[in-house]
Amino acid sequence: MASTLVTNVRIFDGSGHRSFPGEVLVQGNRIKAVAKGGEEIGREGVEVIEGRGATLMPGLVNCHGHLSYPDLETLNAIGDLPPEEHMLISVRNARTVLEHGHTAVVSAAAAKPRLDIVLRNEIEAGRVPGPRLRACTPQFNATGGPWDPRQLHMHHSSFEIIADGPIEFRRKVREMIREGVDVVKLSISGDNMSAPFADEDSTTMAEDEIAAACEVAHSRGKALASHARSDSSIALSVKYGIQFIHHATHPSERTLDLLERHKTRHSVCPALGITYVMLNEAADWGLSREWALKNRLDGELEAACETARKMVKRGIKVMPFGDYGVAWNPHGADNRDLEYFVNLVGFSPAETLTMATKWGGEAFALGGTPELGQIRPGFLADLLLIDGDPLADITLLQDRQNFLMIMKNGELYKAPAAGRRGERRRVAAE
Ligand SMILES: [Zn+2]
Repeated sequence: MASTLVTNVRIFDGSGHRSFPGEVLVQGNRIKAVAKGGEEIGREGVEVIEGRGATLMPGLVNCHGHLSYPDLETLNAIGDLPPEEHMLISVRNARTVLEHGHTAVVSAAAAKPRLDIVLRNEIEAGRVPGPRLRACTPQFNATGGPWDPRQLHMHHSSFEIIADGPIEFRRKVREMIREGVDVVKLSISGDNMSAPFADEDSTTMAEDEIAAACEVAHSRGKALASHARSDSSIALSVKYGIQFIHHATHPSERTLDLLERHKTRHSVCPALGITYVMLNEAADWGLSREWALKNRLDGELEAACETARKMVKRGIKVMPFGDYGVAWNPHGADNRDLEYFVNLVGFSPAETLTMATKWGGEAFALGGTPELGQIRPGFLADLLLIDGDPLADITLLQDRQNFLMIMKNGELYKAPAAGRRGERRRVAAE
């Protein structure tokens, strides 16, 4: 079994503790040993990577990914993409996020029914590069839900599956489970992007529809995710055991109490980036500041930050990332979310990176035993070597050039430059 020792690094192990100098031994696809300070791990028969003081951290885990969202401007443009082109775009996006250190993604909706499923299978088989992937359905919407693109007398489609009533929800969720998804996504609330017909205060699925979809998913051992901005959509997500509650923008104190009582079961990804960018940087795409204020995106961002602070105080798991994959918020910019967690919400860089690694790894396990997101003996070897200290400057992670090494499952996707591997060759040849 191949063994690699990454030596002379500062280790941020994802546990929430301070980083420390040390070295890490990888054997096969798992972390075998972690040495602190001056302790040394035996070098016999081991390939050595010289870290030269760079930071070694666990791979990032995104629990609100949309790898098949094609960085386009409108819902209809996504619907107009033929499946063949769309698959290739998804493959490219998977590579882009891996190059930015995302070694695991829980999808929060595919743009067409089989895109995530095929992408996951190709990545797992080692035929295309990409993160470990939990494949998701498209967003289930009731008629008039936030992503219903249709118009009377006109044909439009986007990235949704429309269903109405418990019978249709049951049938269509079963169909997606037959096709091979890991996660079922329900759009339970509206969104201000879809105002006025389905703004974020509206709950757009009926309880019997949610109950039917969740009953099928739970009975088949599949995870669930929800688009839930309104108070009642968040409460319904908790009531029906939906593990991934996305956005969770406007919970009442009563709903926060409910979520806190069930906090071991849920995690929340607010996805601050898309709101921030639409509010401040999307004028070039026709989304003026005026439009953003009219659609109350300033209030949405403020509420999302305030809710994230309240939730973490209550011990509810909140994680960065989400909703990258539109023109003004493209794949590869995901790590800006880490900066928003520090500068807009007020979490420390260490807290933020713990959320993006350890907490993400726990959520990725979908209720099983976590084996991702920490540098810890026995855990899977998804490791990043960063040029500099992201705890001092979290924006370092926004530039793929700063990723000196990207290891997934014990294999180097990006190998360190020859200088750092010099010693590796010499020792290996001895
Ligand atoms: Zn999303």
